[in-house]
Amino acid sequence: MKTGCTVDECPRCGWPQSDVYEVLSRHLTSEGVVTYTRCACGAVQMRFQSFDPGTVVCGAERRDGGR
Ligand SMILES: [Zn+2]
Repeated sequence: MKTGCTVDECPRCGWPQSDVYEVLSRHLTSEGVVTYTRCACGAVQMRFQSFDPGTVVCGAERRDGGR
């Protein structure tokens, strides 16, 4: 089941986001964990994992509401 996250693969090379190629850095914030990853093609992606289980927000854009 997906909750708002629509980025499942790299827009450049199609590498599956679930299979992280390389983790650049990971930061703990008050709301969750921000992870910067690098794809096999070199594209850097940011992923935000909320402490609230089941909530995954892709990219820097925050989505509030809309379940
Ligand atoms: Zn890629």
